[in-house]
Amino acid sequence: MNDCLFCKIAKGEIPANKLYEDDDLLAFWDISPQAPKHFLIIPKKHIKDPASVGADDAALIGTLIRKAGELAAENGIGNGFRLVFNNGAEAGQTVFHIHLHVLGGRPMAWPPG
Ligand code: 5GP
Ligand code: ZN
Repeated sequence: MNDCLFCKIAKGEIPANKLYEDDDLLAFWDISPQAPKHFLIIPKKHIKDPASVGADDAALIGTLIRKAGELAAENGIGNGFRLVFNNGAEAGQTVFHIHLHVLGGRPMAWPPG
């Protein structure tokens, strides 16, 4: 999508501090970290939110979640990390290109805010 921030990051039109990239996925450090380690994983394909994941996207999103675990381990938070998909403005979604938050490096409270 032309006016989507994360599509622009995926295409390299806007810089990001990347930690992983392949043909389908991109992971980059969050610009406003909420934990000592906080990165985002996105599919390069524009999908608006988790509720918009289609049957054809199931393998892609499964691979994205698997990558979250791998990257958490590679970045020193494999023993405990929080995965968050915000869906919709009311849940705190501000960028409408699906992204998985990976947070770690501090104790995580439950319930989340
Ligand atoms: P949401 O609130 O939609 O679940 O999460 C969006 C996340 O994207 C936020 O944690 C925010 O800090 C991050 N973010 C927004 N704009 C940028 C940006 O330009 N670069 C990076 N690296 N992160 C961003
Ligand atoms: Zn997008």
